[in-house]
This record gives sequence, C-alpha cells and structure tokens, in this order.
Amino acid sequence: MIEILDLHKSFGALKVLKGINVKLEHGKVLVIIGPSGSGKTTLLRCFNLLEVPDQGSIELGGMKLNFTDSKKISQNNVVTLRQKTGMVFQSYNLFPHMTVLGNVMEGQITVQKRSKVEARKRAMVLLEKVGLADKSDSYPHQLSGGQQQRVAIARAMAVEPEVLLFDEPTSALDPELVGEVLKVMKQLAAEGMTMVIVTHEMKFAADVADKIILMEDGHILEEGTPVEVLEHPKSTRARQFLNRLS
Ligand code: ADP
Repeated sequence: MIEILDLHKSFGALKVLKGINVKLEHGKVLVIIGPSGSGKTTLLRCFNLLEVPDQGSIELGGMKLNFTDSKKISQNNVVTLRQKTGMVFQSYNLFPHMTVLGNVMEGQITVQKRSKVEARKRAMVLLEKVGLADKSDSYPHQLSGGQQQRVAIARAMAVEPEVLLFDEPTSALDPELVGEVLKVMKQLAAEGMTMVIVTHEMKFAADVADKIILMEDGHILEEGTPVEVLEHPKSTRARQFLNRLS
C-alpha cells in the first residue's frame, strides 16, 4: 500500500537520505527509530512531500510519484499525495485563533469541501474518540499539551487520510501527559489505521509497531518486527544505540 524505493534527499551538500526502501501494508504501523540526525524526520516528511526527495519513488494510496525525473511532478500531484496523509507534529501546530471544534472542522471544509454541518458532525465524533468532546469550544491555549496533541490527532484524522504520520508526537510533552497521547495512538492502531511514527518511546514502539526501522546516517541499519530489531539486532551499531537507551 505504501512503497518507497531508493529515496535520496540532500540539503545542499549534506546527504540526509541515502537510498531508503520502505514497504508498509494497509492497516499496519511502522515506527522509525535511530539517533538524532540520522534522517528520521526528513524521511517522515518525504511521505507527504513536506520535503521533496531528489531521487527515488513513493507509492501511496494508489498514486506513484517518481522523483528521479522530478520535472514531471506537478503541483497537483503534490497536493493530491499530501491529501492522502495526515500529519501530527511535535509541537501540535493547532490554529491558535480557532476553537478545538474549528480546528477539527477546518480541513474538512477547505480541503474536502464538506458542509459545515457534516464537518461539525465528524469533528464531534473524532473529539469523542480522543476524549475531548467537552472541550470543543475551548481554544488551544486553554488546553494542556496532551489535550492539544489529542486535538491535533483528531484534526489529522478528520480528512480521512490513508496514512497518519507522527513526528515525535510526545517529545514536547511533560512526562505525565505522554500516556494519554500514546493511549489514543494505540487505540487508532488497534482500529487498523495505517501509521508511520517517529518516536523515542521504545516501550510504545515495542507494543504498537508491526515493523520497526532503525536508521543511522541516512541508511536503514535494521528492519523487522519489534522483537527482531529491539531484542535481536544484527549489527553492533544497532546494539550500541539500543544499549544507550536502556
Ligand atoms: P532526525 O529526525 O533523525 O533527528 P533529521 O531528519 O531531522 O534527523 O535531520 C537529518 C539531518 O538533516 C541533520 O543533520 C539536520 O541538521 C539536517 N536537516 C534537516 N532538515 C534540514 C533543512 N531543512 N535544511 C538543512 N538541513 C536539514
């Protein structure tokens, strides 16, 4: 369902992704781990073309884009692919001047052209799902970080993406608020949402991932099930990285 082939990305002279291949089936959860600077966020941002790769291809939701001849990629294709994804950022990025309800309705109205009535109905269903229906009239600054992140998840879900992308969704949170966000993510995984998650939460990764990739220096160092990657890594460098965490 998602297939990334030989993906390369540089920022100026800095090569950040050096030939990445990823396959993920519909309904599965991929967790990306690895040391800081290894290219995790850049790879995630390539999934929805917040970063445009220099080379390689991405197939997602029945659409395939080949970046090796990037002149052929129109802005329309970029927009279409992006609409198949929902992104949850480390810093929530809610619209500060809109209520919680407004945040979850916005994309449905502007992108999906739903009526306000429909958008409100779906927004309330999603806010219920993330446990925040009673905060629908609040503004983001009136919520805790954990609550804001749960709204961000509801907002990302609202446009019915093929895949949800999470960029270190709990790393800006106070420790006591991490659990409530991970719980919502686990629930989505159990419901069969396809997800790609960059995280440092190893226990969560072990619980929720169908597949883990461990990146180092723009390459995939290890790839497999949580047991394979976290408990039986093949390379010394992977063992060193995992030992540093424990
Ligand atoms: P990770 O998520 O594993 O910490 P990143 O993908 O954020 O790694 O970054 C990988 C490398 O790319 C780092 O050296 C980072 O400084 C660099 N980088 C990321 N984004 C940009 C950018 N927009 N411009 C220049 N360098 C960048």
